[in-house]
Amino acid sequence: MEVRIGGCRLSLIQGDITKQDTEAIVNAANARLAGGGGVDGAIHRAGGPIIAEECRKIGGCPTGKAVITSGGNLKAKYVIHAVGPIYRGGQNREAELLRSAYLSSLALAKERGITSISFPSLSTGAYGYPIKEAARIALQAVLDFMTENQSGPLQEIVFVLFTPQDLSVYQETLQALLQERGIKTQT
Ligand code: ADP
Repeated sequence: MEVRIGGCRLSLIQGDITKQDTEAIVNAANARLAGGGGVDGAIHRAGGPIIAEECRKIGGCPTGKAVITSGGNLKAKYVIHAVGPIYRGGQNREAELLRSAYLSSLALAKERGITSISFPSLSTGAYGYPIKEAARIALQAVLDFMTENQSGPLQEIVFVLFTPQDLSVYQETLQALLQERGIKTQT
């Protein structure tokens, strides 16, 4: 499923983000940039020790923000390490922080002139964010960015969902958001 706004295309696929050949891939990092399980572990394993070394030099990243390193041995040239919130019931600014993690990643990509970027579903694994709510926040943030940056450097944004179930949730959510906004889809 895909949609175009201005010069940028958004698509949703199922897959492994470490295999993507977009210029940047986004990591679901923790605030210490310490590496961990899930997508973070997979990115560090596939990219090699250079990524952890660069993360150590940067030192850390507040929740809701993002930092950038090289991609090491990955096909992607850059890894953008975004720190989503840990879900603690929903009354602790989780929605705002999750939106901010996506928008910070996109702002960093724009600043660096990056033309293509892949996102995982931030915060919906170990950090426990309910996927339906998280999908809506993630896709709203990306659609807002695309609407406001129609002639920016970014030409391709891909959500790489790990499971077919997660892909279905993102697809249904995107369809609903596009309908609400009166935007037409391509298949
Ligand atoms: P968080 O701590 O932000 O919740 P996780 O890595 O635990 O991060 O999970 C975030 C999402 O990434 C989950 O939906 C998980 O299924 C998914 N995921 C795990 N490995 C990969 C991968 N290699 N590619 C894409 N998504 C992945």
